[in-house]
Amino acid sequence: MIPVREALEIILKDIKTLGTEEVEVLSSPGRVLAEDVVAGRPNPPWDNSAMDGFALRAEDTRGAGPRNPARLRVIYDLPAGRVPKGPVGKGEAVRIMTGAPVPEGADSVVMVEKTKAVADGEALVLEEVPRGANIRKIGEDFPSGTVVIRKGTRVRPAEVLMLATVGRAHVKVYKRPTAAILSTGDELVDIDETPEAGKITNSNGFALSALVSEAGATPVQLGIARDTKESLAEKLAEAVKSDLIISSGGVSVGDYDLVKDVLGEMGSEMRFWKVAIKPGKPLAFGVIGGKPAFGLPGNPVSSMVAFEQFTRPALLKMSGRSDIFRRTFPASVTAEIKKKPGRMNFLRARLFIDDSGGFSATPLEGQGSAVISAMVQANCFIIVPEETSSIKVGETVRVQPFDSTVLDTEKYGY
Ligand code: AMP
Ligand code: MG
Repeated sequence: MIPVREALEIILKDIKTLGTEEVEVLSSPGRVLAEDVVAGRPNPPWDNSAMDGFALRAEDTRGAGPRNPARLRVIYDLPAGRVPKGPVGKGEAVRIMTGAPVPEGADSVVMVEKTKAVADGEALVLEEVPRGANIRKIGEDFPSGTVVIRKGTRVRPAEVLMLATVGRAHVKVYKRPTAAILSTGDELVDIDETPEAGKITNSNGFALSALVSEAGATPVQLGIARDTKESLAEKLAEAVKSDLIISSGGVSVGDYDLVKDVLGEMGSEMRFWKVAIKPGKPLAFGVIGGKPAFGLPGNPVSSMVAFEQFTRPALLKMSGRSDIFRRTFPASVTAEIKKKPGRMNFLRARLFIDDSGGFSATPLEGQGSAVISAMVQANCFIIVPEETSSIKVGETVRVQPFDSTVLDTEKYGY
């Protein structure tokens, strides 16, 4: 039995990124950038107006006020998308729209609300305008040549905005890993069958598929392998066509727990098969035909926990992500926790923002490795270190949220 950290180090040592490919920017959300994106132009591209108003020379408004407005001659209109027709001279102004380039000679823009239109192409400015007012300077967001997004970043809508801003219609991303999923067990039936006596639905296959998708990889569903060497070997031969292999069940010490044996017979280099984690202790990891293979436990909660802690970081590393671990942080625990020393526990728990505005976590009823209802209520794991045996109410624990339900709420947040 090896500690969780050591298991992770062994796994990650073997994980490499796949190749890269070019995708259109609209296909890039969720993908991982395989290049530093460098701006080929400054933003803003030129000095431009932040307001609808008048571009003018600040000095022409010295001492102006509502009772003694500055009177300026409006020489032309400048809508967004047009270029200035000429410079702004002393005593002159240009009627400018938001986003239009600031004409030469003008050093400020006064918003239209602070002016009064008068006949004969004149405008009255009702206040003194500070130099530089309402002008967005060239490159104030970023100058040309700036690395605006780092390699290894997962593309979100904000990155799409940036890519589009710098005119990148295509971008280089890492290839998405494919992950073969196979479920083992003579007791398993498919989801559209009604389980007869002794049978259960292959729920892990579906959960693992969802986990793979959520990690940004592509699940390849191989279905059910029976508890025979032949059936397993046949499915595993198919599985090695994917970039990563995930099986569930058949890794503990029962007579029919064949996954380790068959992986071994197929020339897999087994790296470990027991980790000091609860749930999820029987966990086999090996490399078969150069492909990392995870033999996850059969109990549904164990297999989800093991995926989250071991397979997900591996998939993210393979995807090129620079940040591959779920963040953990301190929270106050609302119920007593007792456990046997020896294994790191991942308790299914509900994390929430308490009355003091801090984080609290409630361990859920039903910590058995087959209790699905607690998994559904949970939005985090409470991590209890190997040697800890009890935690009292109000003590601080580390929690690891695995979705955003702690941030989302039914109420307005403001
Ligand atoms: P095993 O590790 O194969 O001994 O399985 C441990 C427990 O997990 C048993 O109760 C199995 O029936 C259950 N199990 C195994 N595979 C699956 C699966 N794909 N979906 C749901 N439960 C499973
Ligand atoms: Mg089994």
